[in-house]
Amino acid sequence: MSAFYHRCRFLFLPLFVTALSLAIFQFSQPRLNAWHETIAQLPFWLLSISILIAIQFNRSRLAYLAALLQAYYLFTSSAQFTIEGLDNYSEQLLLGGVFTITWFAFIKDRGLLSPHSLIRTLGIILSFSAAFGWQWANVTFDNDLKLYLPEFITIEIRTLILLSLCTLLVFLRGLWLSNLVSTAIVITLLLWGVNFLLPNYLPSAVSLSMLAIIYLLTVLADSYFLAYRDELTGLASRRALYNLVLSLGRKYTVAMLDIDHFKKFNDTYGHDVGDQVLKLVASKIAEVTGGGKAFRYGGEEFTIVFSRKDLSSVLPHLEKVRKEIEKYDIVLRDEKRKKQTKAKRNKAQERNSKRVVNVTISIGVADHQHRESFEQTMKEADKALYRAKKKGRNQLSE
Ligand code: GH3
Ligand code: MG
Ligand code: MG
Repeated sequence: MSAFYHRCRFLFLPLFVTALSLAIFQFSQPRLNAWHETIAQLPFWLLSISILIAIQFNRSRLAYLAALLQAYYLFTSSAQFTIEGLDNYSEQLLLGGVFTITWFAFIKDRGLLSPHSLIRTLGIILSFSAAFGWQWANVTFDNDLKLYLPEFITIEIRTLILLSLCTLLVFLRGLWLSNLVSTAIVITLLLWGVNFLLPNYLPSAVSLSMLAIIYLLTVLADSYFLAYRDELTGLASRRALYNLVLSLGRKYTVAMLDIDHFKKFNDTYGHDVGDQVLKLVASKIAEVTGGGKAFRYGGEEFTIVFSRKDLSSVLPHLEKVRKEIEKYDIVLRDEKRKKQTKAKRNKAQERNSKRVVNVTISIGVADHQHRESFEQTMKEADKALYRAKKKGRNQLSE
């Protein structure tokens, strides 16, 4: 998967869907007024569910965020719990939330029942204290600051600059990581800002419910990827292959691919280098053309399924994969080299430190025959693979 495609899928698409949902909400707002009471109750339920699910799946940052949003909603919207005068501190709440979210963008998910929880709690308290401190300093030293700063930089502008900086940081982090949890954190920051800066644009009941749904979807989608993606290579897993089988028609072709003499390769270069090579070979296999979908079947074996394709039409595409891997000079990352200084590295490079290796693959292919099950077709492909190995490897056999 290219980095750009990855970003589109895990960052830009969720951002776009959120913006679209907001637009749809604006469009249908007049009709939703009748549901006002129900909508006001929604965040309590949705945020509670998302806290439970996030805890269950160890997404601690989302659990903390959902709990903080729940507390915020409770203290600002519930008749019993509303804290008088909290409205006067909206800048501090906005900033405290932004600091917490920014910090969360840069830390990892940890178990909720671990010492890290203490650090998280302290961090949240510190974020809100910093927000109060900032606001206090900003107001107290306003006259002094005016002597050094241009006139148009008022208290509000200074706070806005700080907010923009945090937003930029969180967005860049989201762009860098491009995973669903960091995207959920980016969206949290944006909606949190909208909630305070444009209060009439979006009722907090709606923005908080949206966030709760986003957290639920994030945990759900993340677990799906965990189950259906192979961790080492990033390819779809064997479980995903059997999922695809359910949607296959009568016409399809299956190819089984196996790296040649990989055991010997591991023995020569070590298991870690073997893993590196496996990853790079998988990335070449994933680029298969002709509508093939690649899976890691297990170990150093891969499967490609061509839906609605007969055997003769897929042969050139498989042959292309085989040749691509044959001519692929795999440059090995030398872990020791990373630690060396640049000057030393240059010398080391001169001294033949660039290790290039090559591997080949054998391929067996079979197309689906009438009344045959997927497993039977795969078995035929496996037999063909065995023939390719017997004939001397690095070849394709039908
Ligand atoms: P051939 O297929 O050409 O007959 O020979 P081979 O040596 O590849 O034979 P076989 O398929 O029996 O061996 C598979 C080897 O692949 C065994 C194991 O050392 C290696 N292997 C399987 N999975 C992994 C993995 O995840 N990482 C690494 N590094 N090696 C793996
Ligand atoms: Mg094998
Ligand atoms: Mg092998």
